[in-house]
Amino acid sequence: MNRIKEKNVIVTGGARGIGYAIAEKFALEGANIILNDFCDQSVLEESAKNLQATAKQNGHSIRTASYRFDVSNFEASKEGIDVILKDFTKVDILINNAGITKDKLVMQMTEADFDSVIGVNLKGSFNMIRHLYRNFMANRSGSIINIASVVGLMGSAGQANYSAAKAGVVGLTKTVARELGGRGITVNAIAPGFIETAMTAVLSDEVKQKYFELIPLKRGGTAEEVAHLALFLATAGYITGEVVKIDGGLYI
Ligand code: NAP
Repeated sequence: MNRIKEKNVIVTGGARGIGYAIAEKFALEGANIILNDFCDQSVLEESAKNLQATAKQNGHSIRTASYRFDVSNFEASKEGIDVILKDFTKVDILINNAGITKDKLVMQMTEADFDSVIGVNLKGSFNMIRHLYRNFMANRSGSIINIASVVGLMGSAGQANYSAAKAGVVGLTKTVARELGGRGITVNAIAPGFIETAMTAVLSDEVKQKYFELIPLKRGGTAEEVAHLALFLATAGYITGEVVKIDGGLYI
């Protein structure tokens, strides 16, 4: 049985990287894709169009739409979700994927570096859940997946803002899983390690090689591998409040 077909799925930060790969995976299963990002509207629309074409090649006629807003902004997220609910009536699956990094040692990290990274990664996830909370309560089914990171579990020098945000995402996940479990909604987090996307493309080959030496599987993961896990968790049914690492063994 296909449990994803015709479900309405929001992916934040979905124009590229892991978010786009997740959106593509769900589109290939026949889900309607609601893409959010804060990039150029034209880039976002292009991504939504590509998803529709990909789904069609797989025999699915899906709805896609794009909504440009900053998830870290409480009011803008509310306005965005109000419009989404008007257009789609309900949301079945929320993927909180939008994220940024601003890496520096604590000694050099500014207040703005700290606040903006907490704002997008942690508060952004809270904002989306907060504004969709009633939607999920009313549906009495559905799934929320938050993209955390292994550095939220193990720490990472130079990433105090990011690792604190991702550790916060883990706490948020477990709490919302407890709050919404009675309504049949599952809430889980994915904690990727090193995944080959624009976020990690900025690292030099030398830094990448150093990372790979620490990873038992000796390579970075792909966005497609993360997407595969997201699809599994969205349909798993009896898994909630979990943090699933996908890191090639980086943090065993
Ligand atoms: P990415 O390629 O940089 O994509 C992140 C997306 O989020 C971009 O499209 C970005 O838009 C969007 N975004 C940024 N700020 C936003 C905001 N305020 N509102 C809405 N959208 C916003 O990164 P990625 O590697 O795919 O990462 C996706 C998620 O996985 C993030 O949460 C990241 O922390 C997590 N993660 C990644 C790795 C990794 O190794 N890549 C490892 C662990 C966890 P713009 O194009 O405008 O920047």
